[in-house]
Amino acid sequence: MLDAVTIVGASLAGFWAAETLRRDGFAGPIALIGEEPHAPYDRPPLSKKYLAGELDDDRLDLVPANQLDDLDLDLRLGCRATGLEVASRTLEVDGIAEPFDGLVLATGARCRTLPDTAGMDGVYTLRTRDDAAAIRDALAAGTRRLTVVGAGFIGAEVASTAIQRGVEVTMVEALDTPFGRALGTEMGAVVADVHRSHGVELRTGTGVDRVLGGDRVTGVRLTDGSTLDTDLLVVGIGVVPATDWMEGSGLILNDGVVCDATCLAADRVVAAGDVARWPNPRYEGLMRVEHWDNAVQQGVHAARRLLQTEQEATPFAPVPWFWSDQYDRKVQLAGRTHPDDDVQVAVGSTVEHRFAAFYGREGRFTAVLGMNRPRYVMQAKALLEQDASWDEAQALAADWN
Ligand code: NAP
Repeated sequence: MLDAVTIVGASLAGFWAAETLRRDGFAGPIALIGEEPHAPYDRPPLSKKYLAGELDDDRLDLVPANQLDDLDLDLRLGCRATGLEVASRTLEVDGIAEPFDGLVLATGARCRTLPDTAGMDGVYTLRTRDDAAAIRDALAAGTRRLTVVGAGFIGAEVASTAIQRGVEVTMVEALDTPFGRALGTEMGAVVADVHRSHGVELRTGTGVDRVLGGDRVTGVRLTDGSTLDTDLLVVGIGVVPATDWMEGSGLILNDGVVCDATCLAADRVVAAGDVARWPNPRYEGLMRVEHWDNAVQQGVHAARRLLQTEQEATPFAPVPWFWSDQYDRKVQLAGRTHPDDDVQVAVGSTVEHRFAAFYGREGRFTAVLGMNRPRYVMQAKALLEQDASWDEAQALAADWN
């Protein structure tokens, strides 16, 4: 039985771990350690309403202050975990060693950056609320031209928010289509069409050769030889799991903290959220998921795992899903796509940007993508949870039409 739990990462996954421990009756001390000075907050609005200046800071909080107080946590904000040794159950915070009894690792991920841009004015990544506030203020201060590098989630959502504020936006993507890896070429092209139809200049199949400017960014030279003038650069080229501080800890680190199927990384140590990599029994290989819903569910699962015996433990086996709001479109994907999947529009029209499409492979139904079709996506997600065949998915599509 555990006497105390330390949670590293006052993130979505970290918060839900704390909440679950208390809800399940754990009465011992819980420390929640977070590097940022803010109480746990929600990230989805950061690239949308918050960036548009339409949401006050306190509306980002995951729960009101009194509800956080009720959890009776030792909330240690502005503190950075700097080292870990699992064998001796020692955590190091801001360079000072302290013992732990049970440990939840929920440190998330850090943004990748472009070379030679550290400290350059006008160049931003977007991960934290302070990042978002800085970009919001820069947009409000009269930015005319914005370049976003990377047409993934950050790029697409920032482009959508900025263009609606009257800013000229160019989006640069190394792949041939936006979201190419997540959605495949065919559906990536539909997302490209959505952005172009809203006035974004999309430059695909090209990367950044060099960011131009001295103290302040003035432009970007692309690998195709062209140059873009810009007032502001937002870089959304993916993230790396925040495991640097765990080097030498005794944990297996390989693109995240490697866990077993139950989210256990070592005796009395669990991981959850963007930082955790585990064998989801639904799929082959190890999986790491960087989305909101996974952080919540895995935070809950990992906290319970800490309180369970090996016999009681169950695998964490979700069908992953996400949503992304771009302009007036809600893009949702449930399941796991693969470059070889067949893709079929099950209902609606890609030209009208309102449809649900099915992905399948070798007779299996693998994923559903929806644009402004949330009810259909949720029905198809339920089928994915039953590990349905492609024929069963076809039967659902026939019901819809
Ligand atoms: P992302 O979704 O992984 O997309 C990054 C994109 O940038 C990829 O298409 C990538 O292509 C491309 N890229 C990489 N290097 C490039 C370069 N040098 N030049 C041009 N393009 C380049 O990552 P993100 O947009 O930075 O988002 C960061 C994190 O926030 C992710 O974990 C994401 O899940 C999360 N987020 C989620 C949501 C949501 O769920 N709605 C919203 C915002 C943020 P390659 O794949 O070829 O590298």
